[in-house]
Amino acid sequence: MINKQKETLYERALRVWGKDPQMLQVIEEMSELTKEILKNVNRKKDNTAEIIEETADVEIMLEQLKCCYHIKDEVEAYKKEKLKKIEKRLDEWEQTHDK
Ligand SMILES: [Mg+2]
Repeated sequence: MINKQKETLYERALRVWGKDPQMLQVIEEMSELTKEILKNVNRKKDNTAEIIEETADVEIMLEQLKCCYHIKDEVEAYKKEKLKKIEKRLDEWEQTHDK
């Protein structure tokens, strides 16, 4: 029996709708965000509202993806290290490109 008290909404979505359909939904939402970014950059479309909506959709689906593969902590740890590297690269870039 499922302890529905402790079950997150992401876990619930995976249990009710299934792993494969939800992972395909991740791809669908990422492609919708991709499309809005392309419209904004390539066609100079004023679509901030759509970008907000699709960003939220992608974030929700990425939470489900982490839940699905049980990788939340690992992603967080990798992200922390990656952000340190990005900061280092930015520091180096600014030092060499400063006027
Ligand atoms: Mg969407």
